[in-house]
Amino acid sequence: MKKKSHMSWSWIFIVGFFVLSILDFRFGILGIICMTAPIYHALKGRGKIHCSHYCPRGSFLGKFLGKISLNNNPPKWMRGKLAKNILLIVMITLLTISMIHAKGDFSKIAFSLFRFMGSSFIVGILMGIIFRPRSWCTVCPMGYSTGLIKKKMDNRKLKTKFKKNESDKTNEQKIA
Ligand code: SF4
Repeated sequence: MKKKSHMSWSWIFIVGFFVLSILDFRFGILGIICMTAPIYHALKGRGKIHCSHYCPRGSFLGKFLGKISLNNNPPKWMRGKLAKNILLIVMITLLTISMIHAKGDFSKIAFSLFRFMGSSFIVGILMGIIFRPRSWCTVCPMGYSTGLIKKKMDNRKLKTKFKKNESDKTNEQKIA
């Protein structure tokens, strides 16, 4: 059955997240959901369903930047693997450093996640204004990682299918 998309309203979650985190930055811990949900879906074999059906950030960028976006095409280098890999490595490194600095302290971890979510959200908005509304999605580390997981799982499925076909052929030949 085809899944219903929630992109028309899921932006409420990201707005709610920032409002709560500004009132009390310990709510920043909820940023974990935003970071892990795309990976969870991909590992469950649902590919990029988070990006197309649920993502609150993608929903916000698509819904609110349409009217103010300059709608320029993102430069070619931004769509290339190099830029995506660099951003993914930079984000993982920064997050790891801030987690090490937090030393297991709940408030510090929550604040780091809030800062991380906030800075990437601001970059996403700026990109959405300068280029197309959802240009952030071109380089988004979560979307990119999800795509990599999907590719790996698709390849694994293909290999299994190929092996099964080969063994079926061998069995048929043996019977003949
Ligand atoms: S690419 Fe990133 S921001 Fe865009 S929809 Fe996917 S997870 Fe959300």
